[in-house]
Amino acid sequence: MTPRPDLLARLASHTQQRAQAGLRRQLHAIERADGVWIEREGRRLLSFCSNDYLGLAQHPALVAALKRAADEDGVGSGSAHLIAGHRAAHAVLEEALAEWTGRERALLFSTGYMANLGTMQALLRRGDLCVQDKLNHACLLDGAQLAGATLRRYPHADVEGAARQFVGEAAALLATDGVFSMDGDIAPLHELSALCRREGAALMVDDAHGLGVLGARGEGSVAAAGLGQDEVPVLMATLGKALGGCGAFVAGSAELVDGLVQSARTYIYTTAMPPALAAATLAAVRLAQAEGWRRDRLRILIDRFRHGAAQLGLPLMPSPTAIQPLLLGDTQAALDAAGALERQGFLVTAIRPPTVPQGKARLRITLSAIHEEADVDRLLEALSRSLAGRPV
Ligand SMILES: *Cc1c(COP(=O)(O)O)cnc(C)c1O
Repeated sequence: MTPRPDLLARLASHTQQRAQAGLRRQLHAIERADGVWIEREGRRLLSFCSNDYLGLAQHPALVAALKRAADEDGVGSGSAHLIAGHRAAHAVLEEALAEWTGRERALLFSTGYMANLGTMQALLRRGDLCVQDKLNHACLLDGAQLAGATLRRYPHADVEGAARQFVGEAAALLATDGVFSMDGDIAPLHELSALCRREGAALMVDDAHGLGVLGARGEGSVAAAGLGQDEVPVLMATLGKALGGCGAFVAGSAELVDGLVQSARTYIYTTAMPPALAAATLAAVRLAQAEGWRRDRLRILIDRFRHGAAQLGLPLMPSPTAIQPLLLGDTQAALDAAGALERQGFLVTAIRPPTVPQGKARLRITLSAIHEEADVDRLLEALSRSLAGRPV
């Protein structure tokens, strides 16, 4: 009898292969975070890689709400929502999120990853069709696979390509990022919604990077495209990016939300988010709605960065949002550029395959409303030094 393969040895050998290909991922503990500044291994670095687009993660109003709620309610929720974990703070936050996004109801999940897995597993069955953009976030792809649906992917943002995926008569869901997490561009939501209407398919938008950032009151990419609950019946967004907290929600009709409560396993069988976090997130929602100046600041910084980068001939991608990747292609080039930036006091991460396709390694630069114009100018100078002499 041949011995069984050793699982741990196989994993170790896979890790080693990744290291040889320059793809090993490594953790670095940040000792202190102070706005856009972080301290790592005793060095202060100016960070351009957080998703805290509105600069709310350390806002005093969020911290105060968290403290106040923790004083009253403690830390853990103690159980799943359906047992005894669903507190008033969760209910109030769900109402505020539903109102903000123009949906009948919203349902909290502990993370965005769980929200997408659970929603797709609840909606889709074996044999159903799930049509997705090739550059969708990993958890949307995993969600379709977990549900056992037939996953068909179309070339990025290609609506005709999406139309070609609708074969057969099966029930169908088209899922797309609203703002693409590694490219920063916005999905063609109007055209996709028209396609879904023609095909009798449901449209699901993951607005992790649009909520708080796009739309007059930060309602996100769907509202900014003039679409509502009829056109986009399944809206998911996260609370850990522009809202500066952690968690996620799915918003839509009362029927959808009730269905998720019955069927979404990642909702049912998991501990509810700490109620104090829900209270802090409510404070974040109020700030994101009221303080339009944060979106205005972001717009000014995005324009400044793009203008400066174009003048320097940097390899900008066509992104109108706070995610401003510089496409370097080669994995080593991206790592070298990130290293050169770090030596000059900047934290910018190199994004490599498989997070992005082969040959599409990049620096993923993200801007925040709490960056200063001078921060952007200094980053541009450092980029021009770090990327000088590279072949174009
Ligand atoms: C970050 C992200 C998620 C996952 O959300 P978490 O709350 O971090 O688990 C899902 N979708 C997209 C597009 C994301 O960028």
